[in-house]
This record gives sequence, C-alpha cells and structure tokens, in this order.
Amino acid sequence: MYNFTLYMTTDCNFKCQYCYEDYHNHYQLNEKTLVDSLEFMMNYGDRGKVLIDFLGGEPLLKKDLIYKAVAYIKDNYPEREVKYYITTNCSMMDDRFIAFMKENHFTVRLSFDGNKETHDLNRVAKDGVSCYEKIFENIMKVKDSGLNFSVRMTVTENTIPYMFENICYLHEHGLDNICMIMDVYLKICDELKAEFEKQVGQILRYYLAEAAAGRVFTIDQFDGKMFNMLCDFGNCFGMCDAGIGNFKIFPNGQIYPCGFLTSNEKYCIGNIKEGVDIRKAKLIAMSNFDKTDPKCKGCTIRDFCHGMKCGYMNFINTGKINVPSDAECIFEHIFYKAMVQILEYYLQQPIEIVREKLGVYIDYIQEEDLKFSEFGEKIAKRLSDEK
Ligand code: SF4
Ligand code: SF4
Repeated sequence: MYNFTLYMTTDCNFKCQYCYEDYHNHYQLNEKTLVDSLEFMMNYGDRGKVLIDFLGGEPLLKKDLIYKAVAYIKDNYPEREVKYYITTNCSMMDDRFIAFMKENHFTVRLSFDGNKETHDLNRVAKDGVSCYEKIFENIMKVKDSGLNFSVRMTVTENTIPYMFENICYLHEHGLDNICMIMDVYLKICDELKAEFEKQVGQILRYYLAEAAAGRVFTIDQFDGKMFNMLCDFGNCFGMCDAGIGNFKIFPNGQIYPCGFLTSNEKYCIGNIKEGVDIRKAKLIAMSNFDKTDPKCKGCTIRDFCHGMKCGYMNFINTGKINVPSDAECIFEHIFYKAMVQILEYYLQQPIEIVREKLGVYIDYIQEEDLKFSEFGEKIAKRLSDEK
C-alpha cells in the first residue's frame, strides 16, 4: 500500500500564525500536472491499494480539480482500491462537495481549534475577517453527513491554557474524534510546562469521567497510543516510511518524502515524470541520523514517543531525525503519564469493557507474534483468565 499526498496548491485563504508551510513561491496544480500525478500514483510500485490525501495550502481552493481527480481514477482505474483523504480549514465547504465526499468515502481532517475565542487567536483569514460562524456551520454539516472525520486542534503557546476548555467544547458539539497537534516549533519554559501538565490532567479526568458515564470519545494522543503502550517494539528509533511508502507530490510535480521538507528543493527525491529516487530518500534520513543519540539513549518510553517515529519533525527543529525537540520530549512524558492512568483505569473495568477497548490490540499482538509490554501482559492475562 502506498500513501500519496497531493498538494493542490500552496496558497491558502487563511494565514494561521502557526502554519509551517512557509512557501516563498505559490504553486498551483493545473489539470495537466494533475493527470500526470494521478498516472504516477496509480502506476507506482505493485499497483495495489492507494491512499490519496488532498492537501494544500487550502485544497478546497482547487475543488474543481478534486472532482476531476476522483472522476479520472473512476474512469481509468475502476478496479483499483483507492482511499481518499482531505485536510481542510472547512471555510469553503459546501453541500455539493459534502455529497461528493460521501459518495466516494472520503475521510476528512478538519483543522479547527475549538471555540471562537481560541480559534480567532491564530486562525485568521487573509482578509482579516473572522469567518468562524461559517466554518462552524460547515463543520456541523460535515458531522451530520455521517462522513468519517476528525478534528485537528493545533495547540500553540497562546492556546495551551485553553486546551481543556476546547476539548470540552468539541466533545459537547459531537466532534468526538479529536487530534491535538502540537505546534512543531513550540519552545517551552517551566511555566508553560506546568500549564500544559495541568491542562492534560484536566483533559484526562474529563475523558475518563465521560468514558465511565458511557459517553466515550476519542483523543488521538490517548486512543492512538494504546498499541504503543501494549506492545514492546524494542524501545528504539523507528522512523515512519517517509520517502519509501509515503510521498508528497507538489503542485509542480516534484516529489518529497515529508511535508516538513517541501519548502526546500534540496530534499526533492524525484518527480512524477522520472519517478522517485528511493536511495536519495534513504540517504537524506541516514545522513541526518545522530549515532551518538544524545537525548534519548536510555529513555524507557521510546516505544511510546512520537519523536521516535516522526523524524522530519525532529529534523526541522534539531537538525537530526532522531533528536526530538525539548518541547516534544516534555509533551511525550506528560502524555505517557496520562496513558498509564488510562490503562490502570481500564484494568479495573469489567472484562467486557476491557475486551471492547483493548482486545483488538491484544489479539493483533498475539496473531503477529509480537512482544507484549508490561501493560500488554497484564491485560492479555486478564482477558485470558476471564474468558
Ligand atoms: S516524518 Fe513525521 S510528518 Fe513526516 S511523514 Fe513521517 S510521520 Fe509524517
Ligand atoms: S524525546 Fe524524550 S520522551 Fe522521546 S524518546 Fe527521547 S528522551 Fe524519551
């Protein structure tokens, strides 16, 4: 399976304070490059399942080309399994596009930071006018359509104090699949660390109280980390497949391993006409690996740490793919402590709940002959004792 991100444009109708996509030149995908990009994707590798993520800038600025892309694949590759994703600020969403996404089983990632006060702190439209009400209305339409969606709530220095408030806000509005995206360039001082820890503590208590009341909702930093908590991967750096099975296709047809590298041509690993140079992709990663491993040597939560996978997020901060930023390290330790409490909570729950929440991971670890972590062993034992 290959994972392609297709940049529809590097332009956006917003100028969010924390956006890392800082392009000097704006590129727009045109119809010819779209078709060439689709041909490249559909004929790459083993021609198996393909994941296509429409991204920008703001991809809905090129809505017409998204319609054309899906129609082209349906017409020319009707037998192929293709899964579509889109990441959007939702300001330009409309009923026709929602119906189109439904028909084609899109998964939607909505960039949305929570209530109006928080949202307007960082997510401002280029014309300076807040269009919060319109975005909120569109987000509700996406939710009500039954589409598979998640909310990407970016957390920055000025929104850390409102994290809990915004998690409550999203959950109260039925936006129950939440991913907190930490600002990659965040520098963290002691005061901010204490505030972050306080906010995560409040979120954790709320998350568990809602679970206990049967109003379960999903926070990626918790639910998405269950597997990491239950499986022992050997506690080492294990970078994602950027540039190997995961490619970013720019509007000009150039290909990059990761979105964090697309603003520098030096990291271009090919193009849609000539193909990808996998050796170069590997070389970029290997030549920026620090063998001395100064920060993480001996850390006991490496299996859990996001920094042990997201190499280019580390790279843009520290210059090394295996050296996460200080902020990332602090966040991961705090999230880890929360996860310990979540698993301890589940260990106390009736067996049906344990099975429903964690059984799938335990089964997978056993089926794939992987190793259990300490938590994994405890939960597997409970499940087998109380069959
Ligand atoms: S390095 Fe990080 S952001 Fe880049 S592709 Fe890998 S996981 Fe994604
Ligand atoms: S960044 Fe911090 S938490 Fe992550 S592996 Fe390194 S030392 Fe551990």
